[in-house]
Amino acid sequence: MEHLDALYATLNAHAPALGRTRANQRIARLQALKKALRAHRSEAHAALRADLNRAEPDTDLNELLPVTTSIDYVVGQLRRWMRPEKHGLPITLIPGSAEVVYESKGAVLIVSPWNFPINLCLVPLVYAVAAGNTVALKPSELSPATSAFLAKLIPTVFPPEEVVVVEGGVEVAKALIDHPWNHIFFTGSPQIGSQVMASAARYLTSVTLELGGKSPVIVHPKFGAEAAGARVAWAKGLNAGQVCIAPDYALVRSDQRDAFIQGFKAGVLRHYGEHPSENPDFGHIVHERHWDRLDAWVTEARTAGAQIWQVDAPNRSEKYYPLTLVWDVSLDSSVSCSEIFGPILPVFTYIETADAIAHVNRGSRPLVLYQLCHDRSWSDGITAATRAGATVINDFYLHYMHPSLPFGGVNTSGIGKSHGIWGFREFTNARSIYRRGRWSPTMLLSPPYTDWKKGLIAWVSRWL
Ligand code: NAD
Repeated sequence: MEHLDALYATLNAHAPALGRTRANQRIARLQALKKALRAHRSEAHAALRADLNRAEPDTDLNELLPVTTSIDYVVGQLRRWMRPEKHGLPITLIPGSAEVVYESKGAVLIVSPWNFPINLCLVPLVYAVAAGNTVALKPSELSPATSAFLAKLIPTVFPPEEVVVVEGGVEVAKALIDHPWNHIFFTGSPQIGSQVMASAARYLTSVTLELGGKSPVIVHPKFGAEAAGARVAWAKGLNAGQVCIAPDYALVRSDQRDAFIQGFKAGVLRHYGEHPSENPDFGHIVHERHWDRLDAWVTEARTAGAQIWQVDAPNRSEKYYPLTLVWDVSLDSSVSCSEIFGPILPVFTYIETADAIAHVNRGSRPLVLYQLCHDRSWSDGITAATRAGATVINDFYLHYMHPSLPFGGVNTSGIGKSHGIWGFREFTNARSIYRRGRWSPTMLLSPPYTDWKKGLIAWVSRWL
């Protein structure tokens, strides 16, 4: 893969020039990206329909809008973010001045997944460009129509020495990672994220890892179990559950489980009708491999005695998998232990709130912990007793849409943050600059330590 060596060399050579660009030059690039995206909206719709049977309004809301609103937000903030940050001085450093400069990292690599393939390529790109980096962008091989769309779109906005899209599969991703990038921004599964981090360690390349895992939704006993079930049905239906921040499983008080299940079924009917398989608003599974995984997990649960409800029949040739409920399922089954990333919802029960907290804390730290709850002290108690990348109360996904909230996980659900100033700083090096005045007392504090210097140090130490 020698062409990747040449590509890296070009981006690396051009990085210093891009790092010197001013805010208005970076803003012009971002605005050009927004314009191009708007101009090619119908091609984006077609690509997502081909890759994921994605409904066009879903593409507008979940792919294009997050990119254009990120651009608007960044454009409004960038001058302030790029300004050197002045810091006061401790007495020992007077006279002088201190500041932090947020400089570009250099040549960076962005590796993205297939589930929101425009959003998850271009939102990180917005922040990388805002920070003044050159970028190689590697979309997923599992969403080939969208990868081809991006490979056509990006050269209309950026010259190849600034941003380049590299199409290809796992081998291409591995070969790309095996270069001394100044930063790697990876979005994908925890398993591959760990491999990416190990490869990056070879060059001590810094990484942002936007990963996944099991995000629970805990339902308060007084929320209304049927309403909760219906709400979760909507959240689980989005992109056929192939969302990193989808509610992975539900925790409901044991006496309310049946009402929750009824609510979920009613919610599925309301949003997708009796036959979501025929509904163009319900997405399909990205690849037969993932379809097989989901079906094998449901079969495993059924064989072990779990209760299963499916709105209609799975259809492998269409890559259609129905919204599915699983309950009375053991804690060591695959749906209980692994990130589902599909339209299957296991329902677990608790008796005391402490049981629900213990259930969450037995697993790895979630990307999001959802709560359906109108009792502030109950929800504060759950938040305090758990650790998660984010917590959303009484709705789903909305934290992702807030432009200045940090987005990301913790430990296995992710390392580092994106969005807002957090996203900008992830792609920059915070460089401390201390400038000493013409005269400084530190000159007096060097050897030889004569008696008067020792006395001075003892006197100064009283204030330290
Ligand atoms: P994945 O980890 O299989 O693949 C992601 C990207 O990594 C793809 O571009 C792929 O080509 C590349 N890749 C695959 N194997 C690689 C390797 N060995 N070395 C280097 N790169 C490699 O993930 P996926 O199936 O595309 O996406 C699903 C996962 O992504 C889920 O776990 C989901 O939770 C997570 N996700 C996280 C976020 C987030 O923002 N936190 C967003 C979307 C998806």
